[in-house]
Amino acid sequence: MAVTIAQLEVVAFEVNRRAAIAVPIDAEQAFRRAADRETNPLAKYVLDAIVENAELAVLDQRPMCGDTGLPRYYVKAGNDVHLEGGFAALERALRAAVARATQEVKLRSNRVHPITRRNPGNNVGVFAPSIDYRFEPEGDWIEITAVHKGGLFGSDYRMLFPGDGTDGIKRFVVDTIASFHRRGLACPPAIVGVGIGGTKDQCFTLSKEAACLRLVGDRHPDPVVAQLEEEIYDLCTKTNMGVMGLKSDTPVADVHCEIAYAHTGGTPVAVSELCTAVRRSTARLYNDGRVEFREDPRWFSPYMRREGIDLTPAEAGRAIWAPAAVPEEATVN
Ligand code: SF4
Repeated sequence: MAVTIAQLEVVAFEVNRRAAIAVPIDAEQAFRRAADRETNPLAKYVLDAIVENAELAVLDQRPMCGDTGLPRYYVKAGNDVHLEGGFAALERALRAAVARATQEVKLRSNRVHPITRRNPGNNVGVFAPSIDYRFEPEGDWIEITAVHKGGLFGSDYRMLFPGDGTDGIKRFVVDTIASFHRRGLACPPAIVGVGIGGTKDQCFTLSKEAACLRLVGDRHPDPVVAQLEEEIYDLCTKTNMGVMGLKSDTPVADVHCEIAYAHTGGTPVAVSELCTAVRRSTARLYNDGRVEFREDPRWFSPYMRREGIDLTPAEAGRAIWAPAAVPEEATVN
């Protein structure tokens, strides 16, 4: 048996629809907590409005932000999945689903030719939507995660050096967040993703995945990285630069760091922010025709984060995704 292309098209459309409309529960709860504990009345008013907006979007079945960002996909395939038509057919289905979602869900047609500014009107074009792939050694399934993320602000990169140490990483990240929030170039409270190490492009990719594909409250399984996440979160909180540029107790909803082994002479670091429009939705399709929808992408796995040639039993046993208390049901249907 195989995952059929017809099924892929339907499911790919559905994850785009869910992503556009429903803020995932982990993020919505984080914004609710931020509103509840906010001590600045004006910031509290705006945070309450963010929560109310998320509720109304589900009630009205409409996109939760007028700017529906750039639709993109993260695809993870188990080694035993069978795809009717193979990966080329999958990519066609993913592109067709974005065109359909633009029309029917009313995604804003944001994608244009970068020089002529020609707008095809369906968010499909050269390298659009972008599709990133990862693989797992076992599994008769394929997972499709749709993410709608803005692409204008909130990201930066710097090559640091071993002598900069973790203090240098923290300073770069906090300076970047403070600068964007002061200039109004983000919609806080943001989820901050930090990519540390790897190549330049790898650390940027990791920072975006860390911001978009992990739940609020999730901590990295490596205690050294988890501690850094906590320390950066505390420092960002102390900036007090929050929603709409107002003084606020919750400038960021969470901080997620991902690492990759780096050149011995350098430490590339990249920062990405996911604004209050948290838009992600995941579906897993099995060879036998079953489909499961969920809000947790479960993107980073022990296999992805393995250190050696093979996954060791100790790595496989690490907790990898977040608080069991976070419900997995999609809230949009
Ligand atoms: S930054 Fe996010 S919340 Fe603000 S307008 Fe853009 S998509 Fe919407």
